[in-house]
Amino acid sequence: MPDCFIALGSNLDDPGKHLNEAAHRLSRHPAITLGKSSSQFLTAPVGSSAGNPFLNAAVQIHTDLEPLALLEVTQEIESDLGRTRKQHWGPRTIDLDIIFYGDQTVDHPRLQIPHEACWYRRFVLDPLVEIASDVIHPSRHCTVEEMHCRIRQIPLLVALAGGNASTQRNIINALPSSFNGLEMKQWETMPDELKSEQSIVAWLGRSPEAITAESRIEDLPRSIRLDVSQVGDDVVSFLHDVIHSAIG
Ligand code: AMP
Repeated sequence: MPDCFIALGSNLDDPGKHLNEAAHRLSRHPAITLGKSSSQFLTAPVGSSAGNPFLNAAVQIHTDLEPLALLEVTQEIESDLGRTRKQHWGPRTIDLDIIFYGDQTVDHPRLQIPHEACWYRRFVLDPLVEIASDVIHPSRHCTVEEMHCRIRQIPLLVALAGGNASTQRNIINALPSSFNGLEMKQWETMPDELKSEQSIVAWLGRSPEAITAESRIEDLPRSIRLDVSQVGDDVVSFLHDVIHSAIG
């Protein structure tokens, strides 16, 4: 039976009660056995419409359910506990995300496993590292502990690759002043020994006006690359939310 990890978050009514109730409902399912549970962490909301601080936690489960059947169970728990899906990043009674399903990867329109954002979110990694520090991310090939250490560096090091010089400059002018403890650099002009220290390298896409010999996404380190090439005009606010969730 695969070892799965679920991240839980709540910021409405009585968040601690919702986290406990969601874990209890998982454990009551006939095809699920509850394993380890993390502590509950109080975290700052990400995004402008998220509301109150969140409580976050993570649980380990063992299950025979296939990934999509497990998603149905987690979504049923979300709707039973009153989650409304009005806004992206909006307030929520309970949010359940499937982070890992053994060492499987799933790429389905309704389900991506490992959860796409798990590797840079403090509110996922702080609880997860308590119960899954040695678990290896199956496509980034690094442990939860390594992912956690990397985003806890001060300053957080974020590099920009691809795109053109003016997009890179706009991002570097806009973002570092919004955060304490963020350093942004251009990947293509960085000495190799500094590249290995980065926490995130955001790939802006191919561009005819590339500043130097342009990186390809495949050339960037698998463990830390973030493809933002399809985000469009909102790339600054997208990266703002990514960095906010990494800095915590
Ligand atoms: P969110 O509002 O961020 O919780 O996103 C919910 C949507 O994400 C649902 O429609 C799911 O189908 C989709 N989704 C994709 N991958 C996952 C995952 N690993 N765990 C939970 N939901 C997922």
